[in-house]
Amino acid sequence: MTALLEVEDLRVAYGKIEAVKGISFTVEAGQVVTLIGTNGAGKTTTLRTLSGLLKPAGGRVLFEGKPLTGIPAHKIVSLGIAHSPEGRHIFPRLTIAENLLLGAYLRKDKAGIEKDVQRAYDLFPILGERRKQAAGTLSGGEQQMLAMGRALMSQPKLLMLDEPSMGLSPIMMQKIMETIVELKASGTTILLVEQNAQAALSLADQGHVMEVGKVVLSGTGADLLHDESVRKAYLGED
Ligand code: ATP
Repeated sequence: MTALLEVEDLRVAYGKIEAVKGISFTVEAGQVVTLIGTNGAGKTTTLRTLSGLLKPAGGRVLFEGKPLTGIPAHKIVSLGIAHSPEGRHIFPRLTIAENLLLGAYLRKDKAGIEKDVQRAYDLFPILGERRKQAAGTLSGGEQQMLAMGRALMSQPKLLMLDEPSMGLSPIMMQKIMETIVELKASGTTILLVEQNAQAALSLADQGHVMEVGKVVLSGTGADLLHDESVRKAYLGED
């Protein structure tokens, strides 16, 4: 069976600086796969490349067995890849409802869109309660929920989440992680970039540890969670 996403020897450079130095991994349909690693490891660069926002300097990316190279970002969304970016990038002056609808801009099925807006409100009730308010009035954690809800509005086959736990209180983080588990249970395939290795590995089927542009260790979430070098480097153990 072909994987939903296959990344082979992917290289990405900013000018002369190679930020991603030949990484390979796959994401099977229905899995949660996480990329963990410290600041500057190349995780965000990888997601931005998969979204078509950056051009790879080498390697191959296949989505449903077909190459993604050279396909522009808006086409990539229409193929079924949605990206909830780091720093959220919601539209602060638009309402919460308007922000969600922007995530469905390629869709024409009005009834389906309504249903998915409702699903976002079911997943994150605070968004429903405040649907008519400007999104900029939401807290950081609530904006993260909105960014996730908006990414889901394109009905993605692959949902890419860039550091959804960043800057969140432990309770908010717990909520986001529970939502990821719920999304997986409903069949969504997720590629999760996280600095919070404990949280990410606890729910991931597969994990890859990135350091300075390379994947240095791969395994199941459970294996990596128990790996001594991971525990020392990423889970703060002596
Ligand atoms: P973080 O968690 O801090 O976002 P990351 O693993 O996502 O880290 P990237 O943001 O992908 O890492 O950065 C990888 C490397 O590329 C870093 O050395 C970073 O300084 C560099 N880099 C990122 N964006 C640019 C850019 N626009 N121009 C030049 N270098 C960049």
